[in-house]
Amino acid sequence: MSDCIFCRIVSGALQAHLVYESPSAVAFLDRFPAAPGHTLVVPRIHAETLNDLPDDAIGDFFREVKVVTRKVTGALHPVAFNIGWNHGADAGQRVFHLHVHVLPRYSPGGRGVQAMGSGGDLGELSEIAAAIRSA
Ligand code: 5GP
Ligand code: ZN
Repeated sequence: MSDCIFCRIVSGALQAHLVYESPSAVAFLDRFPAAPGHTLVVPRIHAETLNDLPDDAIGDFFREVKVVTRKVTGALHPVAFNIGWNHGADAGQRVFHLHVHVLPRYSPGGRGVQAMGSGGDLGELSEIAAAIRSA
């Protein structure tokens, strides 16, 4: 997709600081890093979200996320990572080509992604679980 900036990075049409390439994935530094070594791992094929990545591509892609995480560890020695992705515009997705943020953390005792939530009524758990199971 020529209008997708991450497809353009994958094809070499747009410059980025590449850190890793494989037949299934490309990894490059986030242009506006949240921490040193903040890396984005993208599938070579255009898929807007995880739901659009073919099932037979998922294993290879996430294997490369693991490789990149190990490489960042070896280079920068963070104490931990947040690894994940924004799925959909209302969850903060701005680039609609699936990308996993590999975000190194350098200070002990950091908060996890749950810190973004506002909590909920614990009494609803069984109802919610049943709804998801039957969907
Ligand atoms: P999202 O909010 O979609 O999960 O994250 C998109 C990420 O892509 C952001 O963290 C943003 O800084 C990064 N980004 C946006 N445009 C570019 C670009 O042209 N090059 C690189 N390397 N990163 C970009
Ligand atoms: Zn794309």
